[in-house]
Amino acid sequence: MSEKNKILVTGAGGFIGNHLVTSLKEQGFWVRGVDLKYPEFKPTDADEFELLDLRLWENCLTATNGVDEVYALAADMGGMGFISFNHSQILHNNILINVHTLDAAHKNGVKRYFYTSSACVYPEYLQNDAEVTPLREEQAYPAQPQDAYGWEKLITEQLCTHYRKELGIETRIVRFHNIFGPLGTWFGGREKAPAALCRKVAIAKLTGDHEIEIWGDGEQTRSFCYIDDCVAGIQKLMRSNYPEPLNLGQDFLISINQLADLIAGIAGIEIKKKHIPGPQGVRGRNSDNARLRQVLNWEPEISLEKGLTLTYNWIEDQVQSSLKKANSDQEKALFVQNMKSSTYSSRERI
Ligand code: NAD
Repeated sequence: MSEKNKILVTGAGGFIGNHLVTSLKEQGFWVRGVDLKYPEFKPTDADEFELLDLRLWENCLTATNGVDEVYALAADMGGMGFISFNHSQILHNNILINVHTLDAAHKNGVKRYFYTSSACVYPEYLQNDAEVTPLREEQAYPAQPQDAYGWEKLITEQLCTHYRKELGIETRIVRFHNIFGPLGTWFGGREKAPAALCRKVAIAKLTGDHEIEIWGDGEQTRSFCYIDDCVAGIQKLMRSNYPEPLNLGQDFLISINQLADLIAGIAGIEIKKKHIPGPQGVRGRNSDNARLRQVLNWEPEISLEKGLTLTYNWIEDQVQSSLKKANSDQEKALFVQNMKSSTYSSRERI
């Protein structure tokens, strides 16, 4: 065990980072976690956890000191409600985080560096139809991502590639497609569609008011990948010899309306959908997993139903225990009102 690599996970206070740390610890690695905050829903399993702002070069040098490998997950990000309205902040913060973390890793002699990119890099012009053709890795160019978030991911993919070719640090690049699961943000404006819908369905079930809000007509489509598959795929790619960007997601396409119905079925209720204006992102997006299968001889295997059941049960518990903490009927009513809607356009600068 002692000869195993020492690992840094950035963004270890976040959803995927916290799960990744647990998995790496289970395999006997020594792990340092770094983030602006501690994990919110389960204490970290890391050997060491440092609160550091990775936009700052000196902090990146501290974070990457003495480790063999880095999994770079730190990012200022969220669901459509956040990334559609905070372009300047996202581009600014994430460029600083990624340029400084990669360069500090190189300076400190890190051997392998894992970068978490996104399906948001794919061009908008390929995603105008709900019946979208699954996206292959090479289709990221000619580039036209929808948001600043996607542009930053593309730039950092390029940065990793050039650091690998010119400076010799081994880099691996993954493009996640909508990862979901327990222990992820489920309220407050940064949550993503599966968590937001689980929360709204849970509130509907607990209050008996079965009307739930959906942004847009709900016919926009996506694929969703459960967190355990994501964490497994990350480590398979890190250990592989494949240095080009690789999709990591499910290739089962589903509309937001269908996703809401699936969650309601898991909760055992029928829902009435109220379609309201709100950010929707591209019309359709799916992952082409041909290269993933070829490179890793593997692909995500946990069904959407199973993953959603685990996620819904966790979120229902969260909602229920938050509801119990309300001290008065007035506080309870306010909580229910807040949980029924998702916020967007708020500018919450960090
Ligand atoms: P998350 O928001 O839960 O975690 C990101 C973490 O980064 C947060 O805990 C945040 O506090 C931390 N962070 C932000 N700014 C920081 C700073 N200046 N210094 C240090 N830490 C900072 O997000 P996640 O879902 O766990 O995503 C992890 C990575 O995967 C991110 O890079 C994200 O862009 C990428 N990704 C995620 C998805 C998804 O579906 N969850 C999809 C595509 C790409």
